[in-house]
Amino acid sequence: MSEYRLLLIEDNPADAELVEDLLDDCAERGYVVERAGRLREALGLLEERPFDIALLDLGLPDSQGLDTLRLLVESAGGIPVVVMTGHQDRGTGTGAIRLGAQDFLPKEELHPALLARALHYAMERYRSQREVRLMATAFDSAQAIVVTDPQGRILRANHAFTRITGYAEDEVLGKNPRVLQSGRQDLEFYHRLWTELLENDHWEGEIWNRRRDGSVYPQWESISAVRNEAGQLEYFVAVFHDISEQKRLEAELEHEATTDRLTGLYNRQRFDAELDRALARTERYASEAGAILFDIDHFKRLNDTHGHDIGDRVLVELSRRVAHSLRRADFLARWGGEEFVVLLPETDAEGARYMAERLRREIAATPFEDAGPVTISLGVTILHRDDDPDTLLKRLDNALYDAKHAGRNCTAYHHRAPGEDADAEAPPLSLLQ
Ligand code: GH3
Ligand code: MG
Ligand code: MG
Repeated sequence: MSEYRLLLIEDNPADAELVEDLLDDCAERGYVVERAGRLREALGLLEERPFDIALLDLGLPDSQGLDTLRLLVESAGGIPVVVMTGHQDRGTGTGAIRLGAQDFLPKEELHPALLARALHYAMERYRSQREVRLMATAFDSAQAIVVTDPQGRILRANHAFTRITGYAEDEVLGKNPRVLQSGRQDLEFYHRLWTELLENDHWEGEIWNRRRDGSVYPQWESISAVRNEAGQLEYFVAVFHDISEQKRLEAELEHEATTDRLTGLYNRQRFDAELDRALARTERYASEAGAILFDIDHFKRLNDTHGHDIGDRVLVELSRRVAHSLRRADFLARWGGEEFVVLLPETDAEGARYMAERLRREIAATPFEDAGPVTISLGVTILHRDDDPDTLLKRLDNALYDAKHAGRNCTAYHHRAPGEDADAEAPPLSLLQ
């Protein structure tokens, strides 16, 4: 059993001895007593080592009356103080309480049980006051905090809760946090949440809620079950914060990292990721997919004739037209410069060639606003299950090269199944108009 460290601040040796005797008699739990005869001495001791409680006589050689207490509390806060008063001086006692003393004891009435009780409750009260202060500060955090009873009725909600949800605390007291539900999560979601929460006393995750004004937002939430010593549920405490800004930033970064600035199409990095996925699908499901690489014909000349800005506009307009022509599931990216690449899921060789030809004809058929007629050359292939990205791209590049050499404004198809050699390739479709 550990002992309490008590600082006895008393200048009168007889009174001090009396108190020590009383303490010896009363305590189930012992006190280690240190004595200071002057206030200055007491402050020195408090600075040197920790004490659990101070028992203070207000009349000391270097300080008198309530000033003694004030000085002690000011310079050595963080310790409960019980004041000893003389002559049943009630006025001094209540004044002491107002200044922060936990209790006051008239010296003449002291007996062991009274002293023990007073000290015990002084320390208890002091501890719980500190706890309450600490909790109040923690509760006032930037995160929303909601406390419910085991039935889910809201008992407390903090300022951040009001700021985030728009509900004042008294509007939700007694209500179930369900008032915040957005309908974005299904029953299955809540079922899993509750199962996990009751099993582990904790759940954490992203959840979409609805504010008072009807707007829906994502929050990161952590819910804990609070149990008493017998293991019975006492409270649920939910802590959450709004993550819509974070999500918006993430999406923006993701967009920037995967999008070509000029055309708004996906960039090459994003294409690489998509190609990996498409090849994996081809291997896993033995599904077919086509790929097209195309390049604007004589684009250098176009730039030289009309200027780089018009060249840019052609790139943008051409991207828009091609994107418009493709199916929803098709994937179009700017490969770089004036080269573009397309992935065509669930498409066989014939379908891929057909799509390439359609694009070629559409581009050639409608002159561009400031630049006049523009044509493209296209290389086409299909994804093989044992392709890696490099061989696939090499094959596309070769097909495009053939199309250029066949005179431009045409489509060439390369198909090299494993084991077949280059001679087996279909000849370029030369479709110059
Ligand atoms: P070919 O028919 O053989 O493809 O001829 P080409 O002139 O199109 O060939 P090349 O690939 O040598 O030239 C591509 C040109 O595209 C060179 C470059 O200045 C231009 N270019 C690349 N990126 C851009 C861009 O973002 N904007 C503009 N305006 N021009 C670009
Ligand atoms: Mg070109
Ligand atoms: Mg080029």
